[in-house]
Amino acid sequence: MTPNAAAGPSGAPSAGGLTAEERLLRDTAREFAQREVAPTAIERDEQERFDRSIFTRMGELGLTGTPLPESIGGGGFSYLGWALVMEELGAADMATAVTLSVHLLSQFPVLSYGRPEQIERWLPPMLAGEALGAFCLTEPAGGSDAAALRTRAERIDDGPDAGGYRLTGTKIWISNAPEADRYLVFATVDPSKGPKGITAFLVEKGVEGFRFGAHEKKMGIRSCPAAELIFDGALVPAENRLGEEGGGYRIALSSLAEGRISIGAGCVGIARSALEQAAGYLQQRKAFGAPLAELQGLRFMLAEMARDVAAARALVHEAARAKDRGEPLGEVSSLAKWTASDTAMKVATDAVQLFGGSGYSRETGIERLMRDAKGAQIYEGTNQIHRSIVADAVLKRSATPG
Ligand SMILES: Cc1cc2nc3c(=O)[nH]c(=O)nc-3n(C[C@H](O)[C@H](O)[C@H](O)COP(=O)(O)OP(=O)(O)OC[C@H]3O[C@@H](n4cnc5c(N)ncnc54)[C@H](O)[C@@H]3O)c2cc1C
Repeated sequence: MTPNAAAGPSGAPSAGGLTAEERLLRDTAREFAQREVAPTAIERDEQERFDRSIFTRMGELGLTGTPLPESIGGGGFSYLGWALVMEELGAADMATAVTLSVHLLSQFPVLSYGRPEQIERWLPPMLAGEALGAFCLTEPAGGSDAAALRTRAERIDDGPDAGGYRLTGTKIWISNAPEADRYLVFATVDPSKGPKGITAFLVEKGVEGFRFGAHEKKMGIRSCPAAELIFDGALVPAENRLGEEGGGYRIALSSLAEGRISIGAGCVGIARSALEQAAGYLQQRKAFGAPLAELQGLRFMLAEMARDVAAARALVHEAARAKDRGEPLGEVSSLAKWTASDTAMKVATDAVQLFGGSGYSRETGIERLMRDAKGAQIYEGTNQIHRSIVADAVLKRSATPG
């Protein structure tokens, strides 16, 4: 092990195994997150206020396309580098991290499944941080059961819009809406076909027949907006269908497998922040004539928190490296997101306990970490769904001869 390879007692991320570029990227993201995101995180959460200037600034710093190719305006970094950025943002403010993660989640499918002209038309303003993206799968009838979605895409057979589609239906829980400019929308061309009818479409804000419904009133990540989308015969031109008719379900699942790694990384950031703040508080706060840090029961809690942060980070990095090696992501990204979100929830809850009444106050920002962590156990696949994905993979392996 090199001198740098272990996580320190504060749970700070290791520098071991990172390239010079990855270290520079991480340091840039950390400085930005701590100077320009963290100071307003409590206030933005309290006011449920999305601050577009933070997104614009991330564009200026090149963070809005970190792992996408330089040839189209991305950062050209490894996926591990992207995970480092997300940990830094998560440590400062998970709401900002989720905005960026969803923005990227809406871009990966265009890169993987788009035609060259779609890539050139759709991605550059998003990579530059000029256009914000949203990923639109969930509906009232289907969250975990995404194949049950009901939004219809009816193909137009004749007239000036022939080859295009009309979308009709409702999406719920769409992060970044209504602020986002570009929406990756999944709809079915034939509900009787189940997953085989699902098709992906690129939809711009402002299209006639596309509007926003209620804003979600959330427990956590409150400065990342989320809203209902309502499609009432919205016209999507033929050139905005992404991939084949019926290919949308595969597009959605493969993109989510990538997105889960970045959500896992953001959760490591939440847990790290909780750990570091708790460590500081135990040394500063006195009870019965001595710092809390001298009480063995509390020291052991802190040690377990550090253990959990390090273990979650190792899994997230393993998943990111698997992505960089081009390996299948289903199982490893589920393991990473499930473990990291459970870790964030546990470590943040422990931090609230260690802070006592101060932890329960909305003024210190500690309870915010706990509220923010809770959502990550639900979105991008609930942690029950991840158990199911992992069990399927384990059983498949054991059933394979040899
Ligand atoms: C903060 C937040 C942001 C979100 N952002 C987006 C977004 O940007 N885009 C988007 O499309 N969606 C988004 N969602 C929606 C999210 O993806 C869904 O909430 C999630 O997939 C769960 O679906 P559901 O809410 O319908 O719950 P359900 O699917 O109804 O699940 C209810 C409960 O049943 C369990 N369950 C369901 N099926 C199974 C099963 N087969 N085995 C075991 N347990 C099961 C679930 O784990 C859960 O505990 C967001 C949600 C939240 C909370």
